[in-house]
Amino acid sequence: MEKSVTDAEKLVELVAATGHHSLSDFISDYINEPTVPGVCCNPARPNCNYTAMVAPDMDAGFCQKCRSATVRSGLRLAHIT
Ligand SMILES: [Zn+2]
Repeated sequence: MEKSVTDAEKLVELVAATGHHSLSDFISDYINEPTVPGVCCNPARPNCNYTAMVAPDMDAGFCQKCRSATVRSGLRLAHIT
């Protein structure tokens, strides 16, 4: 069985992909924004790193690669929202 990717691992990838050096940088940049970066967390495709701007509390945004509602906001992954 393939090892699943944890929320924390997805969040680390997203922080790096958006050019932030740390999670605290990422959170302070987006904590008051209407949309924030999200990353695909499709359990069936753990290597999909599709990102999109989504609502801060989004946990079912549309992934263009997987064609499924599996994009979760970075703030959601960080348990902020
Ligand atoms: Zn995907």
